[in-house]
Amino acid sequence: MSTQTAERREYSFQAEIKQLLHLLSHSLYQSRDIAFRELISNASDSLDKMRYLALTSETPSDAGPLEIVIEGNEAEGTLVIRDNGVGMTAIELEKNLGSIAHSGSGEFAKRLAEGARDGSGMSLIGQFGVGFYSAFMLADRVQVKSRGRDEQQAWEWESTGEGAYTIAPLEETIERGAQVILHLKPEAREYAAPARIREIVRRYSSFIPFPIRLGEGGEILNDQKPIWVEPKSQVTEEQYSKFYQHLTHRMNDQPLWHAHLAADSPIQFRAVLYGPRTNLESMGFARMDQGLHLCAKRVLVQADCHDLLPDYLRFVEGLVDSEDLPLNVSRETLQDNRIVAKIKTALVKGVLDRLDRLAEDDADGFKHFNEQFGQVLKEGMIMDLANRERIARLARFGSSREQDPEALVSFDQYLDRMVAGQERIYYLSGDDQAALRKSPHLEIFNKRGIEVLLLTERIDEFAVTAMASYKGKRLTPIESDDLGLPEDSSADSRETSTPTGFARVLDLFREALKDRVADVRESRRLVDNPCCLVSTQGAMSPHMQRVLKNAGKPFYESARVLEVNPRSPLIERLGRLSANPEHDDFIRESALQLWANALILEGVMPDPEAMVDRVSRLLEEVAQKRSPLIL
Ligand code: ADP
Repeated sequence: MSTQTAERREYSFQAEIKQLLHLLSHSLYQSRDIAFRELISNASDSLDKMRYLALTSETPSDAGPLEIVIEGNEAEGTLVIRDNGVGMTAIELEKNLGSIAHSGSGEFAKRLAEGARDGSGMSLIGQFGVGFYSAFMLADRVQVKSRGRDEQQAWEWESTGEGAYTIAPLEETIERGAQVILHLKPEAREYAAPARIREIVRRYSSFIPFPIRLGEGGEILNDQKPIWVEPKSQVTEEQYSKFYQHLTHRMNDQPLWHAHLAADSPIQFRAVLYGPRTNLESMGFARMDQGLHLCAKRVLVQADCHDLLPDYLRFVEGLVDSEDLPLNVSRETLQDNRIVAKIKTALVKGVLDRLDRLAEDDADGFKHFNEQFGQVLKEGMIMDLANRERIARLARFGSSREQDPEALVSFDQYLDRMVAGQERIYYLSGDDQAALRKSPHLEIFNKRGIEVLLLTERIDEFAVTAMASYKGKRLTPIESDDLGLPEDSSADSRETSTPTGFARVLDLFREALKDRVADVRESRRLVDNPCCLVSTQGAMSPHMQRVLKNAGKPFYESARVLEVNPRSPLIERLGRLSANPEHDDFIRESALQLWANALILEGVMPDPEAMVDRVSRLLEEVAQKRSPLIL
């Protein structure tokens, strides 16, 4: 023991600290947990430093395992938080617990005063390097007994938080490290109760990478291994699963995938992220937006942080920990925190990379992922301009090439299967594949072996419209009047002469449909079908119009063009009939019915009464013509 003869000395707190202490001791009841968290975090920091020193110095550490001990004495109303970390010398006690090194402290005191009414400012306390003083939220007297790492003499700092503190040499020998002894205020005595200590440690500090014991040699309150700080190679699959269960409180769940991310510059962070197996949203539960656990220096800062991932990755669960984040970034300041923004960018990349890998390595896993979360992910094709193509790579759609409606293809697969000269990606959207496959618009594509993506999810067409192109290939709905199809090498085999009366048929069709379509014209795309409706360039697709209409959203009904196939047997007949004006009415009626048929194929029922009338009349006519044969 040193023969130190120094006397007990009294010091005065810096002006800002006086101000701060006044605020803290009158703080709101509900922010008191924060004090506990700050003190544990300080102890943990000190252990971190010790661990680092032990790892980097030649002389091995003499101390036992690094740990934090919390001891509550309900009878005396004291709470002790003890660590065997680096500790503090007399000079360090004075420097660290008597002044504020940070220049922004005055500003902080002001902000704290502003926030004090609702307690929100309290959560900023650690950000300004003054977390220790929050001890005075719990206690009306605080002692810190400490012995520095290379010292024999221990010291005691003591204050009632009123303006002055003392530092005195300690007679007793204590272990290296620091003991913060809180003499609890009468209204804060509950913090000495083991149940309360347990609860607080579990809530805020279960991720501290050192054991936190309840009493000397007592039970360890935080048995959670901080797997995210370990190198990936050191963590077993079982540990990842266990940690997932711990985080999600779903003790029997296994994640579909996990990703362990580590970065050291420009921002240091570690993250363990998980993909759940089930989309609770699609099961009728509320929106999945549990957010990620955010830790700063291994201390949990926010349990459900929504600012770390964009909305379209809201299903991802996990934990992010950064050394560069201040311990108490508040919810309010997180959003415009520069470090958080950088971490977010890296996390998005990490998740998308991981999903790419899932798609490559595990077809079944990816299929499952796509069924559960594919639609959520597609929101990113609309919302995330920077990553749009990256996300589109993961999107899957039905295809006219696949017989099995379950078989889905990616844009990249589509590009690989394009025919010679094809410059665009074609798609058709509607409610179900079976109906889409019957669309007359598909005829020319099937005939020429050009693949068409069949979009059946609600989000699909919005996503594809937002994209406009993929890898430079324009995304084109096949109802468009401008298809930009590649030159047809077999075009010479095509009939070039227009059948008799076709021009007259078009005229009569135009007359009959004048208010209903923008134009009637000859079709170059139809093979067997007599007619189809096409959209003019830039117009909204019929499916999109219906989706908006059903959702009660206003939109401008786009003018459609009726394309007529001169080689269809029905149109050929009408052409011949048109030679005699006596059939004009019948041809006009046919025009109306063919237009209605085209709409019905798209799932729209135009003016049912008029249609039933018309069909009845046509049937009557046919019946009349047939009846003489029977008589
Ligand atoms: P911050 O921890 O943000 O720096 P605090 O007011 O909580 O601010 O603590 C001030 C300083 O006091 C710390 O930086 C550290 O150097 C020292 N300190 C606090 N608690 C301990 C401890 N348990 N062991 C060693 N040093 C400590």
